[in-house]
Amino acid sequence: MSLSLSSILRHPWFRCFCLLLVLGLALPEPVEAARKRSSSSSRKYTKSKGGKGKGKKGKRGRRARRDVGPKFAVPPIQRGFSTVVIDAGHGGHDNGGIRQNLASEKELALDTAIRLQKILSRAGLRTVMTRSDDTFIPLGTRVAIANSTPNSVFISIHYNASFNPDARGFETYFSHPSAYPLAARIHRNLLATRLSEDRFLRRRGFYVVRNLKVSGVLCELGFLTNADEARNALNRSFRQKCAEAIAEAVFEVRRSGGE
Ligand SMILES: [Zn+2]
Repeated sequence: MSLSLSSILRHPWFRCFCLLLVLGLALPEPVEAARKRSSSSSRKYTKSKGGKGKGKKGKRGRRARRDVGPKFAVPPIQRGFSTVVIDAGHGGHDNGGIRQNLASEKELALDTAIRLQKILSRAGLRTVMTRSDDTFIPLGTRVAIANSTPNSVFISIHYNASFNPDARGFETYFSHPSAYPLAARIHRNLLATRLSEDRFLRRRGFYVVRNLKVSGVLCELGFLTNADEARNALNRSFRQKCAEAIAEAVFEVRRSGGE
């Protein structure tokens, strides 16, 4: 029997094999296999979400921050909160920062806090300032003001400092899980300004956020020990953009009911 190439190509069994091959490629992936594949990829993103891994640059890192929630349960923030307690860090004899600071933290924090207050009150929100001038307010008093303000959230404004002059970036802190939606939006909006780098959204027990009975966020708006960032922070347009980014996060959380 002759087995030339043309006879093989014409053979009915060969044609049948080709048809099956085409059908196999064209048929959709079985549902269970697709489900397994998608769940394993979402686990991967969850893993890359935690801790400092969140700050990894690249598509996957950015996608992880956007797509995946925290690993803890998030109770709803005070739904429809009507008041924002704005806390300008430091004041009076407490300058904030360290000896290497290239600008005054207490002054820039107050200016940014006042800008935030103006934006929020123009939008009809009630605001309470823990300080509105260069006065020293103990941390316990700041917390007490927030805890005695019904139906409120708390936002503390700071600028950062480091003995490493290269340190730069936005950091956003919260303690109680209920503050996560507001903290995450504030951090995202600050990064969207492209005014500085991502030094991560962090859950830490700083006194002013740890002892709150309301949802609270602490913002570190760049390093005053870094020459570039100190120059930026001394620019009023930088401070206004930061205040706008934070205010927009407040509006978003109110609109979403804290989800
Ligand atoms: Zn500070």
